[in-house]
Formats: sequence, structure tokens, C-alpha cells
Amino acid sequence: MKIVFISFALLACLYANNAVSAQLSGQVTPSSCQSQRVRLQMLGTRGPEILDGQASTSYLIWLDNKARVIVDAGPGSLQRFEQSKADFSDVELMLFSHFHVDHSADFPTYIKGAFFTDRSKDLQLIGPTGTKYVASMKQFVERSIGSKGGLYPYLGDFADATARSAYKIKSQNIKWSSRDLQIRTIYNQHGIKVKTVSTHHGPFPSQGYRVELAGCSLAFTGDMSGKFGAMPALAKNADILVAHNAIPEDATGIPALLHMTPSYIGSMAGKANVKLLLLTHLMKRSLSVKKQTLQLIQKKYQGKILFPNDLDQFQP
Ligand SMILES: [Zn+2]
Repeated sequence: MKIVFISFALLACLYANNAVSAQLSGQVTPSSCQSQRVRLQMLGTRGPEILDGQASTSYLIWLDNKARVIVDAGPGSLQRFEQSKADFSDVELMLFSHFHVDHSADFPTYIKGAFFTDRSKDLQLIGPTGTKYVASMKQFVERSIGSKGGLYPYLGDFADATARSAYKIKSQNIKWSSRDLQIRTIYNQHGIKVKTVSTHHGPFPSQGYRVELAGCSLAFTGDMSGKFGAMPALAKNADILVAHNAIPEDATGIPALLHMTPSYIGSMAGKANVKLLLLTHLMKRSLSVKKQTLQLIQKKYQGKILFPNDLDQFQP
């Protein structure tokens, strides 16, 4: 299996519970990935900061040269989608790791923009349940474009089953739980299978995802601390793992509660035996210590590691 980096990224060179450890102990199986059919493109590789010159978190998955899945939709990522030359009419699924601004704010811009396309295919949205701090997937849609009380009610027909519109937005809540860390298949259509597990991101429900297509597997941590320990099993033997490198090793306080340290990323990637590790969601505090981050990760993971920029593309 060959991992091909298509564009211009910089070549940079433990908490597992018993259930997760058991799933990790199996033999590595040979990959049947039809690499030439799949591409993973970065639409946003940074966190919420204004000064970084890149869009906030978002990833685009191509299958047979059609854009099929978007993972997160952080601010600025729609502009990157335009630059990717993808057709939004081809996208069938948007996965949301959680509903922080830097992962979701461009959603209504896609829906308004799609009004001027010939989109007729329904759009499936999947994301976690909410709390008093963040909306659930369904609440996010209602509060964004719902015709009753949404911020942009003039877009409400797309989410209202009884109204006339060119296509429908269908949203599904995934029950987030700190106690049920089973990996669940939550989508399996048109040659695309999606698995998910709940992750720990402080008080904010968050999901990790694994997207399987054409025999290839792409895994996404979203924002998480690693405390639940379920992500290595979800990413097991993945062709590509996208992990969020938001903090340096010596972070303390709230950032350390919410995010993974480089050592944890190394441990996770090593246990999961992924073929390529992409580090994204960098912030000023982690961007300035990339060399140290690499050294810490490489103590526990010997595979290829890259820090991609927006629009970089990878074949698994
Ligand atoms: Zn977050």
C-alpha cells in the first residue's frame, strides 16, 4: 500500500481501556484499498484563531473524482471548497465532530450557495447530541436555518419535509455517551460506510469518525483529549488518520482538558498502526513547536507524519 501525497504539504518528516485494548490486539490485515479512487483534501487545517492565514477545520473526501463527504465545516472552508473545484451537488454526507464555531460555522453558507446550483440530491447530516453548552445536530440545523426560530429562516424549506424545495436536508443525532464507547456504524450507502465513537472534549459532546470507501479507510479524531481511549480502535489500520494538534506537550488548564498532547497523538497513532498521520487544527501555541511535537510523536509512532496546509490532497 502506497500513500501518495499529491500537493505541497510540508514533509515534517494512554488511555486505552480493556475493551479497546482487546480490539487492538489482532493481526494487521493487508489493505485492499483502491488508492487511485480516493482522495482526502484539506479544506481547513487550523483552529479558531484569526491570525493563521488558513481556514478552520474541514476535510473533503473524494471518490472516483466526485466530492462525496465533508467532515466539519469551519469558517473559511467554503472558500477552500470553491478552490478545490468540487461540485456541492455531488456531496451526499456532512459529518460534524462537534458544534464549536471553528468546526461548523460555514454550514449555512453551503446551503445558501447550493441554492444557485442544480442540486437535487438530499443531503444527510450527522453529528452528536448536545448539552446546554452546544447544540445537537438537529438543534444546530433548526437554530441555523429552521423556518421557526432559525437564524436564517428564509432557508428553512430545505429542512422542512412538508415544504417544497429542490432537495432536503436530513439530520441525525448520534447519542454521545461517556459510558458507551462501542464503535457504531452510522451510515452505509452508495459505497460509503461511516463508523463513529464518542470522544472526550471537556463538556462538549464530540465524535471521532472512520470513513471507509473503495477498500480504504480514513479516520478523524475531531477535537478530543484522549481521555476515553476509544479512538485507537476506531482508527485501527487506517490508511490515513487526521489528528488535531491544538496544544503543546506542556499545556495546562482548559486547553489540556480539551485537547490531546503530542505524546498522546503518538501513542494513539502507534496503537492504531495507521499508515499516514496528518496533524491539523494547529494553533499558535502548537505551530511554534512543531519540531518538538514531531520528536514526541515519533517516540511512539514510526509511520509517516505530515503537517498539511489548506487544499493539500492525499491518496491513501
Ligand atoms: Zn472544539
